[in-house]
Amino acid sequence: MDATTNPVFNPVFCTIVPPHVFDRLIEAEDPALARIARRTFVADAAQRTERRLTTVLGAEPAAPPAGAAADQPQRTVYDAQHSTTLPGRRVRGEGEPPVQDATVNRAYSGLGATFELYLQAYGRHSIDGNGMPLDATVHFDNSYNNAFWNGSQMVFGDGDGQIFLDFTLPVDVIGHELTHGVTQHSANLTYFGQPGALNESMSDVFGSLVKQYALDQDAHQADWLIGAGLLAPGVHGDALRSMKAPGTAYDDAVLGKDPQPATMDQYVTTGRDNGGVHINSGIPNHAFYLVADALGGKAWEHAGQIWYDVLTCGRLGSQAMFKDFAGLTVIAARDRYGDGAETQAVRKAWSQVGVPAS
Ligand SMILES: [Zn+2]
Repeated sequence: MDATTNPVFNPVFCTIVPPHVFDRLIEAEDPALARIARRTFVADAAQRTERRLTTVLGAEPAAPPAGAAADQPQRTVYDAQHSTTLPGRRVRGEGEPPVQDATVNRAYSGLGATFELYLQAYGRHSIDGNGMPLDATVHFDNSYNNAFWNGSQMVFGDGDGQIFLDFTLPVDVIGHELTHGVTQHSANLTYFGQPGALNESMSDVFGSLVKQYALDQDAHQADWLIGAGLLAPGVHGDALRSMKAPGTAYDDAVLGKDPQPATMDQYVTTGRDNGGVHINSGIPNHAFYLVADALGGKAWEHAGQIWYDVLTCGRLGSQAMFKDFAGLTVIAARDRYGDGAETQAVRKAWSQVGVPAS
């Protein structure tokens, strides 16, 4: 499908919190919660429209400033001061000292941690592989319950304090959103159905790896959660998603229960959430976890390298289904590591989640 003529199926506006969560919140008995959820949802819809326009017209080419070193990020953090105007007031640029506002500093560090993983582990220079400057806006809107990549920059809400806290808190959320940019500049997976769930899964995989790399954790030390620390005290849950045990991240009276499947026999067919992109991503997420767990050691090394190779090799089509992706991971594992433990682990993982890999 031609990306320039069908905006509906383009990788639109990628938020960290999926719409099924807001469906529940809008119905919350507490009218204040329902009001906040409704406002977040409306603001998201406005951003979606804007993102489609960007997709159709083509984003402005982002060139690194003249003289910028390729191995250094070019970060700028802006403060929306609770408005919805982007990017907002510039508050911290590359190499500038920390400011008073911890949210600004966390966004700055998270952009740096993501840049580091891609550069050190995979030799990739920023999101586009060509030194693209990394821009982020914090304090977007009031009590805004989401974070997103709008096609050219990151945006963070402060959360409402009752369900969600500040969206700059989990570094994997920052890695997740920026990875939407990496996917946009590589396989450009369509944000709908199985290719969309693969797009979401790429963001969870590399988001988790950003956190593991920053903490220097091996596969057995990692929590494999997406958004740990984001849920307010009192919410029954650990995070937004679990790659180790999809479907177990939360089970709460207001939020509902984590709907993610771990295997194909639980695949959810739905028209919501772009065909369940944040739901069925549990399946490829779990496959990656199983590979990393079987290999042990640092997950960004062999397991992450295989996934990165497939994402960026040019053979992964924008309409790829789970089985297409699975088959390419077997080929990538064999190409890089031969018929050893890696290839075996990859085959076994896909078989465990019920996706044919050949
Ligand atoms: Zn996402």
